[in-house]
Parts: sequence; structure tokens; C-alpha cells
Amino acid sequence: MQLLKDRIRKDGKVKEGNVLKVDSFLNHQMDISLFQEIGKEFRRRFEGEEINKILTIEASGIGIACIVAQSFGVPVVFAKKTQTKNIAGDVYKSQVESYTHGRIYDIIVSKEFLGPDDKVLLIDDFLANGKALEGLADLVQMAGAQLVGAGIVIEKGFQPGGEIVRSKGIRVESLAIVEGMDDKTGEITFRE
Ligand code: 5GP
Repeated sequence: MQLLKDRIRKDGKVKEGNVLKVDSFLNHQMDISLFQEIGKEFRRRFEGEEINKILTIEASGIGIACIVAQSFGVPVVFAKKTQTKNIAGDVYKSQVESYTHGRIYDIIVSKEFLGPDDKVLLIDDFLANGKALEGLADLVQMAGAQLVGAGIVIEKGFQPGGEIVRSKGIRVESLAIVEGMDDKTGEITFRE
């Protein structure tokens, strides 16, 4: 998606440790007209697929997922991150290792909001090592729901997540795939 790549080149900041900061338009301040274009693009890519629910993970996935959901006309459920040890049995629970914070946390979704009738599109801002997507896919499987695919705004193609998740047979559509980035020069290259 050219509009997105141009925006990443213009406003993205490359940090040490292979972290791309897109705080000015994606995951702190949010450019809603860009989000609307992102929503339309996911709608186009998943044309013909039956989708009745979008699942994302707090916090930075929520804003994007809401606008994307508007173009699909379906509700959004977000997996909550929790450290609570004793959670009642009315939730599905998985675990995710955080890329940006380097720790493991539980993610939960209420059984009330995900079940066998659901045809789910996963949405997230980044795909790096694939842990967040794997955790979300786990929740979908536990619920007996159908996983239609995953829509990712920025995939870091030089990290293994994309390959791991695709090799499990999950369809992943990424709107921008970063091939490499240099924290000294700030240069970002994309896969065509
Ligand atoms: P994964 O689970 O695929 O390793 O990482 C995905 C999650 O880590 C995303 O939900 C995102 O919040 C965060 N993340 C991974 N890489 C980056 C990055 O380069 N920049 C930012 N801002 N977040 C990232």
C-alpha cells in the first residue's frame, strides 16, 4: 500500500533493537483518515470472504481494528492483557511474549464474545516474531471459531513471524513489509 509506505518513510523513526516508531500516525497519535484507507484496503484484500468479527489485542491494535471494522460492518473484540492469576472459567486464555517489553503475559477473551459461529479476521499494527498473532489464533481455535486470516499494517519481513504464521496455513495480508532498516541513517526499505 503505497500511501502507507510513503508515510512510514516520511514519519517513521528507526530505533535501536529493530524497533520502528510510528507514534505520530499509528500507535500513539492516530491518523484516522489513513486508518480509513487501511480499512478499505483490508476490505479489498479479503473481498469474498465471510467475516463477522474482528479480533485484536490491546492496546495499540484497538484503534486500527475499530476503523477497519467499520469498513467490514462487524464488531471488534480485543484480547485483554492480564496478570491476574485466578481468572474465572468463562474466558479463553493464551500467553504472549511481548516483543517491545520482553515479558510474557496472559491474554484473555470472554467466552461470551467468541464462539463457534464466528468467522474471524485478526488485526494488528505490527508483525515481528509472530507471538501476538499466534496467541490470538490460539484463542480463535479454543473458541471453535473459524480463522479467516490476519491483516497486519506493518510486517517486519526480516523477523521470523510472517514465515512462522504463514507456515501454519494462516493467511496473512500485510500492507507494508519492511525488508530492512538502519538506525544510523534512518533508511527504511520495503519488499515490493
Ligand atoms: P510479535 O508478537 O509479532 O513479535 O510483535 C507484535 C507486537 O509487538 C505488536 O502488537 C506491536 O505492538 C509490537 N511491535 C513489534 N515490533 C514493533 C516495532 O518495530 N515497533 C512498534 N511500535 N511495535 C512493535
